[in-house]
Amino acid sequence: MHFFLTLDKNGSVGFSPFREGNDQNSSVVSYLSVPLSCATIQAVQGQLCRRGPFDFWFKGSKRKDTKLEILKILKVFGWNESDLTWKECSPAPVIDQGPPEEQNNEVEKAFNQLTRGRQLSTGDLRGLARELKIKEDDIKRLAQANVEKGRAKWVPAVSPIGKGWRCQRCGERDVEEWPSQYEMAATCRSCESIGASTSLDALYRDEHSLLGGPSEVIFRPHWVLTDAQHLASEQVFEFIKDPCEETALLWAACGAGKTEVCFPSAAWALKQGKSILFAAPRQDVINDIAPRLHRDFPDYPFQVLSGTSSAKFQGGGMVLATTHQVLRFWRAFDVIFMDEMDAFPYSGSRALEWGLNHALRQGGKILYLTATPSSEGLKAVRQGKMRLIRLPARHHRTSLPVPIWVKSRITIDPNGCTSEWASQSILLRAQGPVLVFVPKIAWIDPWIKCFRQCFPGWQVDGSYSADPGRSSKIERLRQGEFDIFVSTTILERGITLSRIQVVVLGADHPVFDERALVQMAGRVGRTIESPVGSVLFMSKRMTKAMKTAVQWIEEQNKCALELGLIEA
Ligand SMILES: [Zn+2]
Repeated sequence: MHFFLTLDKNGSVGFSPFREGNDQNSSVVSYLSVPLSCATIQAVQGQLCRRGPFDFWFKGSKRKDTKLEILKILKVFGWNESDLTWKECSPAPVIDQGPPEEQNNEVEKAFNQLTRGRQLSTGDLRGLARELKIKEDDIKRLAQANVEKGRAKWVPAVSPIGKGWRCQRCGERDVEEWPSQYEMAATCRSCESIGASTSLDALYRDEHSLLGGPSEVIFRPHWVLTDAQHLASEQVFEFIKDPCEETALLWAACGAGKTEVCFPSAAWALKQGKSILFAAPRQDVINDIAPRLHRDFPDYPFQVLSGTSSAKFQGGGMVLATTHQVLRFWRAFDVIFMDEMDAFPYSGSRALEWGLNHALRQGGKILYLTATPSSEGLKAVRQGKMRLIRLPARHHRTSLPVPIWVKSRITIDPNGCTSEWASQSILLRAQGPVLVFVPKIAWIDPWIKCFRQCFPGWQVDGSYSADPGRSSKIERLRQGEFDIFVSTTILERGITLSRIQVVVLGADHPVFDERALVQMAGRVGRTIESPVGSVLFMSKRMTKAMKTAVQWIEEQNKCALELGLIEA
């Protein structure tokens, strides 16, 4: 998206996507003939401020001097002076009246409501124009009108910073530079999955909170918190009300029900007029939380934004979104509940972390929820920078199954199913279906074949992320149709299977860190019908990750026992 540099009758410099002013009352008297990118305009602005008494938008100066000054600056940037001329505005033409004023007001109201707290690319604005059934130029006019009123801003999607660049949507500095027609340009690859972000494009940024003030909220929980949840919920509430604390970590046992613990605090905050974001890295977690929010907050309008698809625009003070979708918000939320902070793709992504932090309003709060905290999270707790809230017990008051190490004489690989392993499997199968985790996709087929040979009467199958039959197999697994199911870490989270037993084959493989091991172990004993079960780590060596995983699980049990949350 490009803009025209404009001068008004007082000599003030501005910019607009339109040659003449945004409306007929505009005081714009001249504009530069060639449209420029927002990044170039920002650079001109920087130079003007440095050179003299010029101030964008606000202070006037002699128009002729300003015009010459701008041409000089653009020449230094590599523009050919003969391509650039200042044009005088003709009086605004009386164009057709368009839709009646009432209808215009409705559209304007809808636009302002749907863009609160958002930062939108040109592509996003185009999508919104389609949804509002208006022309692309009309949506630009609505956006520009808000910019002129000081309600919103245009910012370059990728800005020059010092000698480099920074993507304004995701904060990435490692961008791809390329020569455009007049100037060096840059494209961000880190956030391209939600649409292009280049220095030739602009973002429309509105920094308003999603809620205009306190709102009516009907909160009708369909559950009763367990003792463990109640204790954690009280502490979450204390944190949300505390004016000083900014971040907290809710460290929950796998399957302890951490999401509902936040609902009472969310209801309170909404009533106070605070906007809420529930974020998670993956779409399946969002799909899992959405019906629970609908059930417990009946009639409250909230937005569900998942995947990397283009934005769907809805109103409301509560948003449920994947961390990619959060990149389309800017200083919008007073409270963020960030679920599964240690999961892919959020974990280790600078862009998504930057996006989450910038979606928070000044003085807002983030509560991270996880069963397996990141080392940075634990470090912040140790340093006293982040409050720690524990939720160490499951609803059925039974301790978490502690993994048992089964030492293998040989390195476990995809080429051999030993008799040692076979006997273990028979024992486990007596307790329930066995979920076998392997470190690599290449292990799946050989192990399926091997199990089928060892146990000819058993139903054996397996799956991995790119398996076309994945969802139907997982459905059959939920139905309890398999005796043994071999999987990569795709099943380490977000799945509850009755009576399931877990084996981690090659638990010493570097792909299994302590978080993956705790999550895999956490599949066992989740339901009241089968609150116990076995977790076996099979490997030749005992790694540090395996030790830490066992230690974390034992610590949760110890903490739960001390608080009287599980039976001894
Ligand atoms: Zn980016």
